[in-house]
Amino acid sequence: MTEEWAAPPLDAPQRCLFVSDVHLDAAAGAAEQQFLQFLAGEATGADALYILGDLFESWIGDDALEHGTVLDALAALTAGGVACFALHGNRDFLLGEAFSRRTGCRLLPDPVVARLGGERVLLTHGDALCTDDHAYQELRSIVRSANWQRRFLSLPITTRQLLANEARAGSRAHTARAQPRIMDVNATAVEAAFRAARVRRIIHGHTHRPGVHDALIGGEPVQRIVLGAWYEQGSCLSYQDGRYELRALPR
Ligand code: MN
Repeated sequence: MTEEWAAPPLDAPQRCLFVSDVHLDAAAGAAEQQFLQFLAGEATGADALYILGDLFESWIGDDALEHGTVLDALAALTAGGVACFALHGNRDFLLGEAFSRRTGCRLLPDPVVARLGGERVLLTHGDALCTDDHAYQELRSIVRSANWQRRFLSLPITTRQLLANEARAGSRAHTARAQPRIMDVNATAVEAAFRAARVRRIIHGHTHRPGVHDALIGGEPVQRIVLGAWYEQGSCLSYQDGRYELRALPR
């Protein structure tokens, strides 16, 4: 594990909400409706909302001017005084500064350590922990390079759309082919992350396997909280007064 897992912590407020993998898309109208209701409802009662990646099913650049309704809703939330933070997912890793300015959402590096109620907690999208998927990790290191991103963003929007559609089809085929085990986190990578970040709690998404996993590392209790995707229902983790609650949000 590299030094990025041991970055200085970010202080989080009292009442926080976490979501991940909303996968907003033109074809995901029900998820979008539910997420808009969430932003206008429950989220307004929080001090901060953390979006841990893959808010959008794809993001080909801030200049493509997609998802205006969601961007406006995020802007309304942050204008109302709720701090909003977003990590890049494997699908919307091109969210940039214009997205930030438009919505008031602050982009955070992945991973990042937040301090919640005095405890250091590691926040990450989760794809970097899925080290058994070698083909994906190879692709990840390519598309996360500044060079690749500069070249991609310089292409016309229609070309980028075409390439993104191809990439999504390729990703679907890969997911269908791969054994379920390799699409989950790797236990060794998880343990290394706990140790490198010196945390006892990790919150992530990406695997679409919501759950709370307790374990021991070096005799110390640790906990990994996994947020679910918003395909069939919503998924949300709330934090308040030292208590975490992972909930499914029925549609
Ligand atoms: Mn993901």
